[in-house]
Amino acid sequence: MNLCCLSVDTPFDVFKSFGFRSGRNEDKFEGMDEPRSENGLIFLSRYINAFMSLKVEQYVDFDTHGMFICTVTEARVISNRETMTYSYYFDHVKPKPETEGKKGFVCKICGYVYEGDELPEDFVCPLCKHGAADFEPVK
Ligand code: FE
Repeated sequence: MNLCCLSVDTPFDVFKSFGFRSGRNEDKFEGMDEPRSENGLIFLSRYINAFMSLKVEQYVDFDTHGMFICTVTEARVISNRETMTYSYYFDHVKPKPETEGKKGFVCKICGYVYEGDELPEDFVCPLCKHGAADFEPVK
């Protein structure tokens, strides 16, 4: 696999495209053919300050999450722009949910607003595909 380190200039569209979709259902790299690292895989041509190529040695199943144990086979620095942290993403990139005057539940992951008195237990967010556990009532 390749792991790309996003820099602070990454627009929300990149998060939508790579973070809110699953590679199981869609080809996230459709229309992209390069650049490629030594392992033959694509890495992002923009918005990254570094990438690492990893060889998967082991997968550990933690039920809700999985952990990949890998060996680094290549690592390149692309730019000296600052790295996007999770808190930078929340403070500066992720759009604030439009909950003004709405009653219902908001997705903590992507900001989608479900309007209604009760959120169905098996509800799946249409944007990021996260389940009801990741929703909170609109305040
Ligand atoms: Fe969502």
